Amino acid sequence: MEEKNSNIYELINSIDLKNLYTSKEEKKTKEREINKINPADCLYDRVCECPVCRNKFKTKSVRKSKIRYINNEIDLKPLFEPIQPDYYDVVICDKCGYSAISSKFQKITDSQAEKVLKIITPKFYPKQYPDLYSIDDVIERYQLALLNCVVKNVKAGEKAYVCFKIGWFYRDKKDEKNELKYMEAAFGGFKVAYENESFPMCGLDENTLLYLIAATGAKIGCYDESLRFLSHLMAKRGLSIRLKNKIYDLKEFIKEKKTSKK
Ligand SMILES: [Zn+2]
Repeated sequence: MEEKNSNIYELINSIDLKNLYTSKEEKKTKEREINKINPADCLYDRVCECPVCRNKFKTKSVRKSKIRYINNEIDLKPLFEPIQPDYYDVVICDKCGYSAISSKFQKITDSQAEKVLKIITPKFYPKQYPDLYSIDDVIERYQLALLNCVVKNVKAGEKAYVCFKIGWFYRDKKDEKNELKYMEAAFGGFKVAYENESFPMCGLDENTLLYLIAATGAKIGCYDESLRFLSHLMAKRGLSIRLKNKIYDLKEFIKEKKTSKK
C-alpha cells in the first residue's frame, strides 16, 4: 500500500502545470498592467456619417483589446476594467440630433428620417461631451436614443433593450427608483418582443432573451412570472453551461427574495 502511495506522490510532483496556471506573481503583474491603463487610452475617435443629414462627425469607440471582463450580475450586466463599453454604445449626430445604439444607427428609413428632422432636430442643441462620460452623460445619451426610438417607431424589442441599459446605468448611479422604472419598461417590452419578433434581437438570441425576461421580472419583484419564463427556458434543448449556471443563480436569487418577503 505504502509503496503505491509514494508512487502517486512522485507522479503528482512530476506534473508540471506551468502552462495551465499563472503564478500569483504573474497574476498580480497582469492586474497591475490593467490598473495602469488610463481609461482614456481605451477610447478612440471613429468617423460616422449621419444617415439623416449626411453630417460627418466623430464618435467615441472602445478599444476592446484594452479592456478586461471581470464578471457579470444576475441580469448579465457586465463589469469591465477600466471602463464600461456599454457607456459608449450610443451614437449622436451633433448636427441633427439623430441618435441610436451603434448597431442600429445606420438602420433608418426615409420616412423615419423625416420624422427625426421634424420632431428631434428643431429641439436639439449640440453638446460637447468630455472624453470620459460621467454616468449622467451616459444616461442622457441613452435617453436621447430612446426618444429617437419612439420617433422612429421602432419595434418593442429595441425600445426595451435601450430601457434595460438605462436601468443598468441608474443602478451604477445608485438610483433604485429610476432603475426599477426602466426595468419595468424593459420587462414589458421584452415580453412583447419575445412573442412577435425574430432573433437575434439587438444581438440577443431567443434563449438569452428568455433569460433576461426572467431576470428583469425578478429584479422588479414579479417572481412567479419570472419562474414561469425560467421553466419555459429550462425545457429548451442545448442550453449552454454558462446559461445553465445563470439560471441556477437566478433561481437562488428568487428563492432568497421570496423568503425575505415572507
Ligand atoms: Zn444628422
